[in-house]
Amino acid sequence: MKDTQQAGVQGYRLDRRRFVGSALMAGALTRAGSGGPPVRGCQPAGLLARRVKLTADRLLSGQIPSFTPEFVLADVALIPERRFNEYSGDLSGRYLGALALLPADDSAERLRSLVAQLIGHQRSDGRFGQQDLVFKADQIGPRHMALLWGNGRLLVGLLEYYEQSRDQKVLDVASRLGRFLLGVRRECSDPAVLKKLEGQGASGYICFTQLIESLVLLKRATGDKALLEAASSIIPLLQPRGIQHAHGYLSTLRGIMMLYDETGDAKQLAFVEDAFARLVESPDYTEFGSVLEYFGLRSAGQGASDRSTIVQNSGKDPRDEGCGHADFLRLGLQLWRQTGKLQYLERAESCLWNGFYFNQFPSGDFGHHVCTEPGVKPNDNVARAWWCCTMHGYRAFPDILQSVVTEAEEGIRISLFEEVDWTGETLGLKLRRSSRQLQPLHWGVSLEMTRAASDSPPILVRVPAWAERADFLLNGQPITMEIRDGYSKVQRAWAVGDRLEVVFRCRLALQLADGTRLAQREL
Ligand SMILES: [Zn+2]
Repeated sequence: MKDTQQAGVQGYRLDRRRFVGSALMAGALTRAGSGGPPVRGCQPAGLLARRVKLTADRLLSGQIPSFTPEFVLADVALIPERRFNEYSGDLSGRYLGALALLPADDSAERLRSLVAQLIGHQRSDGRFGQQDLVFKADQIGPRHMALLWGNGRLLVGLLEYYEQSRDQKVLDVASRLGRFLLGVRRECSDPAVLKKLEGQGASGYICFTQLIESLVLLKRATGDKALLEAASSIIPLLQPRGIQHAHGYLSTLRGIMMLYDETGDAKQLAFVEDAFARLVESPDYTEFGSVLEYFGLRSAGQGASDRSTIVQNSGKDPRDEGCGHADFLRLGLQLWRQTGKLQYLERAESCLWNGFYFNQFPSGDFGHHVCTEPGVKPNDNVARAWWCCTMHGYRAFPDILQSVVTEAEEGIRISLFEEVDWTGETLGLKLRRSSRQLQPLHWGVSLEMTRAASDSPPILVRVPAWAERADFLLNGQPITMEIRDGYSKVQRAWAVGDRLEVVFRCRLALQLADGTRLAQREL
């Protein structure tokens, strides 16, 4: 976002199975969980655990600034003055949602107290923040959009908190906030408003379209199907990428995927798949396997005046944003889970390793890096975006954890190679990076069974597109495996202590700036 914030979040449905035609499902679909925390049964380990802890510690005990209750709630109390208080609920909502879905230390107690205070700041019409902003088409401007953005993020955070706490008071507050947002929908949908907000960057129209996510979450919590119609009516208002704030745009796409999960409307899926395909074949898709803070900087046909929005909000050199990486990653994972197409998982993984992890600061924050031709340089402005990216980055971890090991009809799928301890009904395993000395261009992982039963399901290990070949060792002995639909399946009566190792020979390729890869033989 602008020198700014914005963030998005999205929740997942964990409470039902979704099958999208087994033939297509080649790679992905999984059994949904039981409605508990999204990461139940999957704990981060090794390097991933260190990354999670780094940001959790930042949120709970970091300094400069410190996330004290007063500081977090400043965007709804409107005091003390704090950067971006006009995006009311943006920081506080994200803080709530991120730690609700991935608790750490005493975060549950802290959130209880925080929520109790936050509720007191709701205005009589359901909104949070500046009370005298009038939502009439002829008056709506950037400050209204800032409030909508923050209130939308807050509604997401409240509902993610409700998902875990089942606190009826919170649902009541969320419902009132939802009614406020629905109430201003008609005035915001006026074409004159759309026109007026062109070029407003992080205070532009994406502040409105990002509401789809919160409306879907509210439907899940209340069962009110009218919310789905309201959310659907917003889709046509999403403008093309053009000069556009990536985080707001991608948050809208994530919201549409959540909507599709509810409605099963193929047109909604097609809308997102088409938008994603156009993005990754455009100059807006970067060498980090991800996006910059703004779309349009590298596009042909944009003049200096067109770019002024970006320069004004993001600086003259290209800059990334933790929120944009988190969104691209999460959107890729959503698309993979809901279509079974491995190409989306490959994109998400590339973003994870090259964009998202790269973006995390040693302080645990996420934020901005300036990308110049000779390389990445420190941001001239505030780099650690504690008002959005730090929480939104943390919010991506549950999505990652949810995707590493999944249960499908045909067995336990290992789809991402992040270090975790996973426990299912009949099988448990530790997934680790290989500790073997490997040849150059080789990379590997090991799976050690920590729980097993005689009828434990088979294990399917993804063989990624970046691997030229995959060699398997079972308890130190090579085994020959077939690859089918992107996975190799190992079936046996698993015993505790069994160890499956996989060594990938990485494919050597030259990747062009537009993401195109040339195989070695083409070099
Ligand atoms: Zn951000």
